Amino acid sequence: MTDFDPVIGLEVHAELLTRSKMFCGCAVVDSTAAEPNSSVCEICSGMPGSLPVINQRAVEYALRVALALNCSIAETSVFARKNYFYPDLPKGFQITQYEFPLATDGWIEIDDPSAPVSSKRVRIRRVHLEEDTGKLVHRERHSLVDYNRSGVPLLEIVSEPDLGSADQARLYSLSLRSLLRYLEVNSGDLEKGVMRFEANVSLRPAGSVELGTRTEIKNLNSFRALSRSIEYEIDRQATLLRSGKPVAQDTLGWNEEQQITVSQRSKEEAHDYRYFPEPDLPPLHIDETWVEQIRADLPELPAVKRARFMSEYGLNAYAAGVLTAERSTAAFYEAAIESSQGTSPVKIANWLSGDLFGLLNEAGVEIDQSKVTSEALAGLVALVETGQISAASGKAVLDVLFAEGGSPESVVEKEGLAQVQDQAAIRLIVEQVLSNNPDQVSEYLAGKPALSEWFVGQIMRETRGKADPARVRTELDAALLALNDQEQSQSGR
Ligand code: ADP
Ligand code: MG
Ligand code: ZN
Repeated sequence: MTDFDPVIGLEVHAELLTRSKMFCGCAVVDSTAAEPNSSVCEICSGMPGSLPVINQRAVEYALRVALALNCSIAETSVFARKNYFYPDLPKGFQITQYEFPLATDGWIEIDDPSAPVSSKRVRIRRVHLEEDTGKLVHRERHSLVDYNRSGVPLLEIVSEPDLGSADQARLYSLSLRSLLRYLEVNSGDLEKGVMRFEANVSLRPAGSVELGTRTEIKNLNSFRALSRSIEYEIDRQATLLRSGKPVAQDTLGWNEEQQITVSQRSKEEAHDYRYFPEPDLPPLHIDETWVEQIRADLPELPAVKRARFMSEYGLNAYAAGVLTAERSTAAFYEAAIESSQGTSPVKIANWLSGDLFGLLNEAGVEIDQSKVTSEALAGLVALVETGQISAASGKAVLDVLFAEGGSPESVVEKEGLAQVQDQAAIRLIVEQVLSNNPDQVSEYLAGKPALSEWFVGQIMRETRGKADPARVRTELDAALLALNDQEQSQSGR
């Protein structure tokens, strides 16, 4: 589209992996698995007279994220009541941060793996803490409410309208997910609803700097829904604008079955949440030394690790992105390099991100649970690279390691996969194949050099693929050269 540029800003909600809830001592449980209403008390069910207490660990996790997002931390932030009525909100208000959020003005680099070093910086407007709501479960003729999720610490991360396409929005949310998992504050299990997205979408004439009227798509629970709904909304708004009609500011939902956005409420019916400071909680003062301690304890973050993998191990941007998306994968890779004694890190990366990832995905196994240890992978790659086994045998060995564990050397020995390296043995087979195929030899000598590939094939077949192809070629070339010399001297030249 050249006539209009899309403008997108995202609001991301992420549950924090604390042990207890935001303002009470109830355990945070897996709300897709636990017995409904099994982790609820008078505070998170909103009984009159109950008093909230701020969960320090939740604040710490929020600070981790805010610092990793390069935000400024507010010395004092304030919790506020956002008033509205809904059955999943027993208090009739949600405690959130409004005028004075925990952190503001940050940024994150997002990488587009299809374009080498094209890091794009997306500005973060604010990061604040709030509490999650309960959950409605709709049965045939009635709805049930489960308050296990009510009061679970929730982080809201709001971007500036810096994203220019559905794909950038997807990359941004993938980068955030990766970051939250690196920081160990969120599991990233979107199918359990621990990360949810809202997309604000508008169009403006190409090249213009003024923002157009936006619509907001609520409750997006997957990366697919996120990008599909944004694409749909861009098309819908473009069609309106091209025919001279305005876009109405609107709150939309995403209809998964029909793959369309649907209006939920218009600007006229917009909520008035009547925010006011939460009278039952003091302002939140953040101690500077605590912040510095959290900053110092941050792990190496995905973007930094990715750049280091490129410069230190010679990986291309794509491979480095794949190997650093998860902290566990990156750790496995570096452990393999550590134990490899000089095998090319690029080769190890290829075996890891190609063959081993393939097996892990197929079996639905996480790398930490893999029976293939980093040491075994490094050993396997070394066996292939030094020609002790063929690449094809290497894959067979990996299959066995994946199913049974153990060391690559023992698998090679047990399965008899070692390549014939013995020069004399190879020479013998070469001579045999040449003397068994006199017609092809004459043709070759008469000027058909391409036949040498055919001879290699015959020799490999003779050794059932176990000869080192490089040695086969050396021996074959020598033997053919000798035959050529012989013939020339016979013909008297
Ligand atoms: P709220 O949605 O609660 O009213 P804001 O007005 O601050 O909050 O906007 C929330 C999100 O909408 C932010 O991510 C912001 O970047 C994005 N946004 C604001 N205006 C536009 C616009 N014209 N087009 C696209 N996104 C926008
Ligand atoms: Mg909004
Ligand atoms: Zn509780």
